[in-house]
Amino acid sequence: MNNMNNENLTNINLVSACGLYCGACGIYIATQENDTDKILHYAMVLNQSYDDTLCDGCSSNRKSEHCSKLCNFIDCKQKKEVNFCTDCNEFPCQALQEFKSKMPHRGEIIDSLNRMKEIGIEKWITEMKDYFSCSQCNTVNSAYHVACRKCGYKPSCKFVSLHKEAIEQYLSK
Ligand code: SF4
Ligand code: SF4
Ligand SMILES: [Zn+2]
Repeated sequence: MNNMNNENLTNINLVSACGLYCGACGIYIATQENDTDKILHYAMVLNQSYDDTLCDGCSSNRKSEHCSKLCNFIDCKQKKEVNFCTDCNEFPCQALQEFKSKMPHRGEIIDSLNRMKEIGIEKWITEMKDYFSCSQCNTVNSAYHVACRKCGYKPSCKFVSLHKEAIEQYLSK
């Protein structure tokens, strides 16, 4: 990691223990864009303060409270003494599978963890950024932006095009 430039170091913050790409998280996007209305919305939904909602990604020093308090995957990896869940003899464990099944944006976490291990973290970050970017304007969208949040193009990214039904069903609840 010694040769990394600032952009790469920032991007490393977007690597999560669970396989999610934090660059496509609504809380991350709202924090980076200083979108106070959105941050307040997430704070209310998650029942935590505005400041505790702010997040620079799972591997950063400023992490949204609900992820830092509720996520057990980082501790679990330490206990199991593995760098990646894919190195664990329980992978993909029950906890990961349950986490995956609860919300559509988590639908590919097992594949994502496998991919992270296969191609390495830096390439995985590049691949994820592309996966969640609008094909027309390159804006990174979250899994819940059905249309691109900048130019309105549908689908907002490759991930959304593959999970459109599950996402729309979830949003209509
Ligand atoms: S809130 Fe959680 S998923 Fe979202 S960017 Fe922060 S650590 Fe990642
Ligand atoms: S795969 Fe192993 S290290 Fe990862 S969360 Fe499951 S039990 Fe923990
Ligand atoms: Zn766009």
